[in-house]
Order: sequence, then structure tokens, then C-alpha cells
Amino acid sequence: MRSKPGTAERAPAALLAALLVAACAPAAPPDPEVRELAAFGTLVTLRAWNAPAARVDAALATLEADYRRLERDWYPWADGELAAINAAIARGEPAAVSAPLRALLERAAGLERRSLGLFNPALGRLTELWGFHEPGRQDWRPPAAAAIAELLAARPSAARLAWDGARLTSTTPELALDPGGIAKGALLARSAERLGAAGIDDAIIDLGGNLLVIGRAGGRAARIGIRRPGGRDALAWLEAESGEAVMTSGDYERYFEHAGRRYAHVLDPASGHPAEGTASATVVARDPLLADAAATALLVGGSARFDELVAALGLDYALIVTASGDVRLTPAMAGRLHWLSDPVN
Ligand code: ADP
Ligand code: MG
Repeated sequence: MRSKPGTAERAPAALLAALLVAACAPAAPPDPEVRELAAFGTLVTLRAWNAPAARVDAALATLEADYRRLERDWYPWADGELAAINAAIARGEPAAVSAPLRALLERAAGLERRSLGLFNPALGRLTELWGFHEPGRQDWRPPAAAAIAELLAARPSAARLAWDGARLTSTTPELALDPGGIAKGALLARSAERLGAAGIDDAIIDLGGNLLVIGRAGGRAARIGIRRPGGRDALAWLEAESGEAVMTSGDYERYFEHAGRRYAHVLDPASGHPAEGTASATVVARDPLLADAAATALLVGGSARFDELVAALGLDYALIVTASGDVRLTPAMAGRLHWLSDPVN
């Protein structure tokens, strides 16, 4: 059930330097088997308890094969299924979509509606215009206002898509689908299924600071830290139950600086500009896709729209840290957090 959204708690700017989120556990119990791999431009870490090394290795190989396929098929700027779909949309043609990608895009469309449009999986053109799809780019500068206005005039939105079975058409050629704001949630859900099928019952899977807990962490509940935005330490921690995901969106991981300003990779669909004013947003939920989309939407909506978004998305556990270091959180989240830094002093 949803809790009443609401209370604002304040924390000093000095304490909460500025940015984002989730990380791993303070002091885990009996040593887990730990495996790492690089995927989706980030580090994936699997910690597993009560499983022999060979089983963990086999499970990791299954995950890696899935990730390699999805890096190609779910990333708009790779050379796979989603790139082909976006190319068809740009030509004004229908596209054939596989069942898993269709499920992801339909989920994303539903979450766009529920997030009052702040989560928008159709901003690929804007992301390209800003250049966030090329993290290594040199001499970065913001695009011309007229170019942003032109893309916004096409009203990019998943609401412009129509499905005829597995065939997708867009009412405008001027949008590109980018499920990046929900993909890690979907990957965590898939990973949990695969780990369960591989006989791993106690694990934490961590996709660049976004985590999903399966079972228990060495005989006790997993303790998940919420990272201080932009820092290396945790602001607070909570005990996560089996099946819960802890997802964080922040302005401190992928961004450009120009003329003393920071431009982060999450875009406000209304302005076409990077979201501003919020350093990080963390959501805990049993549905990793909801948690992922919600964290992205909360980063856009910031303090001004926090209560409204929490209610619209039906979130129990949400927290944001503003750029000035204030913390907003739901009462249920406040009830679960163990603060490592006193937010009041
Ligand atoms: P990350 O996946 O980097 O951990 P997010 O879940 O917040 O963080 O997703 C950010 C990505 O989502 C961006 O890199 C971009 O691909 C896409 N995106 C940017 N702005 C939005 C938005 N308003 N709604 C949905 N997706 C967005
Ligand atoms: Mg997200």
C-alpha cells in the first residue's frame, strides 16, 4: 500500500555535499563469493552467499551473455534491435519489435503516464543533441536553443507510439526511443530470475550502484548504503528485504561542465534541458522498473514536485537530496533509514 507522501526533512548543505546515491553494504557478514564484470558502461558486481564458487561462475556466465545481447539490442546508439527501430521511426516506417523489447517499451510508456511525463523514454533525439550519448566528447557545449525548441515541438513521447501486434509505428518521425532511464531496473529483474534459476538464493546484484536483493546476505538482511551524492561515503543505510530494489539517479555520474555550470544526463522533458536542482534521487521498491523510472522522474521533478510524484507513482520509499543539500523523503523511508551523518547538524 502506498504511504502518505510528505514530510520534508532538512539537512545541512555542508553535510550532503551534493550528489547521489546507492552503494553497497556497510560490513557484510560471512564472506560472499564476489564477481565483477563491466557492462552497460558501468561495473556490475554480484555477491552471492550459500553457493559454491562453480555455481556462481556459471550464473555469472549466464548473466554476462544476456548483458552482451542487451547492450546491443536495448541501447539506442549500438548496432542492434533498438537502433533499427529508431531508424525505421526516423524513416516514417513501421518497425518489428521482439517480445522482450516490446514489454520494456510498454512498461516505459505506462511509467511515463504515471510519472506525469517526467520520465519520458522517447527523448533519444534530445540526448543526442546534447551529446550525452558520447561520454568521451571533447569541447562540450550546450546546443542552440532553437535546436532544442525544434525537437520539443515534435512532442516526443511514448504516447506517440501505436502498436499493431508486434509492429510499432510512431505518429512522428522526430523521436527516438531511449529506455535508458528504466533499463537497469529491467536488467536487475532479469538478473534475479536468472540467478534464481541457477540455484542462487542469497545474493545482491549491483549495477553501478543500483541494487537488487535476493534472499539474505549471509544469514541476515542485506544492508544497503545510500551514497552521499558525489561522495564516496554513505549518507545512510537500510535493511533491504528479499526482492527489493534500491535504485538511484544522480547528477554526479554522467555530466558535462561548461562555463562553470554542470549539465547532467537526465533531461527535463518540459524544457529539453538537463534536470537541475536535485543531486540524487533514491527509490526502494519491489518492482525494479518502477523504482528506476521513479528515481529518474524524481530527479527531474525535484523538491517542488516530490509529493505529487510520490503520490502519482504510489511510492512508499523515496528520498531526494537537493543540490543545496536538503533531504526530502517519504515518512516510510524515514522510518527505515539509519543515518550515518546526522542530517540535522
Ligand atoms: P542511469 O541509468 O545512468 O543510472 P537513470 O536511470 O536516471 O540513470 O537514466 C538516465 C538515462 O535515461 C539517460 O542517460 C538517458 O538515456 C535517459 N533519460 C534522460 N532523461 C530522461 C527522462 N526525463 N526520462 C527518462 N529517461 C531519461
Ligand atoms: Mg532511472
